[in-house]
Amino acid sequence: MSDDLNDLYQEVILDHNRNPRNFRALPDANRRAEGDNPLCGDHFTVFLKLDNDIIRDVSFQGAGCAISKASASMMTEHLKGKTVAQARDCFARFQRMLATGETGDEEALGSLCALGGVHKFPMRVKCAILSWHAMLAGLQGEGKVSTEKA
Ligand code: ZN
Repeated sequence: MSDDLNDLYQEVILDHNRNPRNFRALPDANRRAEGDNPLCGDHFTVFLKLDNDIIRDVSFQGAGCAISKASASMMTEHLKGKTVAQARDCFARFQRMLATGETGDEEALGSLCALGGVHKFPMRVKCAILSWHAMLAGLQGEGKVSTEKA
């Protein structure tokens, strides 16, 4: 692997790809949305259990490349217990990091900072953001989202 690829596939990413967290359907979910990234073939469903304004639980199912799967796994860990406003804020920070490579406030993104190297690979940015778009669509009560229509 080149240095750049080593930069991209950090151990934490490989670990989440091998052992994805919250990788299951959520029987009592009250929101769900599918995300599709046709350019890479990533396809995930994100399940959310919203309790008023709080994300009590969040999970995902589906298949995709290592980056898309690790990003979805890390997202579910990061957003559990957060408010809808906090989830939107995380989305904005994460999107900015993928665009610029700058992590900004590292506390706010936590382990998601490991995906900062993705910004050097524009094709992979859509993989990393896919489950996040699905999560937002779910919060907004929409059922489907595609990186090619977003
Ligand atoms: Zn992908």
